[in-house]
Amino acid sequence: MKREELRTPCYVIQKEKLIKNLEILREICQETGCRILLAQKAFSMFAVYPLIGKYLNGAAASGLFEARLAAEELGKENHIFSPAYREEEMPEIIRLCDHIILNSPAQVKKYKDQILAGGKSPGLRINPRFSTQEGHEIYDPCAPGSRLGTAIDQITEELLDGIEGLHFHTLCEQNSDALSDTLKAVEEQFGPYMHRMKWINFGGGHHITREDYDRELLKKCIRHVQDTYGVQVYLEPGEAVALNAGILLTEVLEVMENELSIAILDTSAACHMPDVLEMPYRPPLKDSGLPGEKAFTFRLGGPTCLAGDVIGDYSFDWKLKCGDILEFGDMAIYSMVKNNTFNGMALPDIVLEENPGDFRLIRRFGYQDFKTRLS
Ligand SMILES: *Cc1c(COP(=O)(O)O)cnc(C)c1O
Repeated sequence: MKREELRTPCYVIQKEKLIKNLEILREICQETGCRILLAQKAFSMFAVYPLIGKYLNGAAASGLFEARLAAEELGKENHIFSPAYREEEMPEIIRLCDHIILNSPAQVKKYKDQILAGGKSPGLRINPRFSTQEGHEIYDPCAPGSRLGTAIDQITEELLDGIEGLHFHTLCEQNSDALSDTLKAVEEQFGPYMHRMKWINFGGGHHITREDYDRELLKKCIRHVQDTYGVQVYLEPGEAVALNAGILLTEVLEVMENELSIAILDTSAACHMPDVLEMPYRPPLKDSGLPGEKAFTFRLGGPTCLAGDVIGDYSFDWKLKCGDILEFGDMAIYSMVKNNTFNGMALPDIVLEENPGDFRLIRRFGYQDFKTRLS
């Protein structure tokens, strides 16, 4: 398909950009001997799992369904973490997964022996209580009272007996200086236990494929842990795999005035890019500026009933009109995996740009997709 043939709204994943990210990640594996997994919760477009599997070592899941998706579509190493597992799901999880990461002493007691008996590797998620981010408490697993991970004061020799790996995930869109600082805190507290582990998983939140990311420091951190403790290091980035590798195309449905100029789009912040409201953040928009920067400023909103279904205020060199196509950037991650059909909104098409200008429709959703989630 050509670009003019695409129907809006649609997520367009750009294969070239995805490959660029994957090459960067693979190089880190090759140079350090670490292993990198795709955190599926950020990006689960399984049409490109065969491609991802050529570069990465496997996938990380947040629950049974993601683990099953990776087993079916990626078929490499399969790791899982959940704060609490359902007893009835554990046999299938043990069948599908290689590393099963437990969150609390009670979960360790409940499942450790079952996992070992199944020939799989049980790990413990630790909480170093070391926050490296401000402002986004919703994304800080080290915030006071966090339910994510076991802190040092809960660790006993008996608890760790049979545990083969430690996992920490404390970062979000951060550079390797934050990892380096976190590692110091982790080693200070858990160092004595790290020697007896087979693997250490540094979690996600590493913005490895971002322009200004310091990869040399990341490699130093990986080598340091592998050499000091004799363990296999794993990373499980989500964002970094598909960072800036996709766009969301949308059409202006209508324009109106109410003290300011407003454009109603055929995409919705609430339905198609919920992190815009949840995080919140302002997504990049091609050929636009900050409010007032260019000649015409518009508030861009969705067609739902939610008053706050607003993507943001942007300015343009031209006056927006019905039929204009707008292009939001960095829409591969935390978009498709989080979208919903609130208000009966249709889900955007999923399109793969195989080569620049050469598009393939992967999936189109319709009324049945809306109806089958209700009853
Ligand atoms: C969210 C998450 C990831 C991926 O995080 P990104 O910010 O997308 O890199 C990896 N591991 C765990 C346990 C997570 O919760």
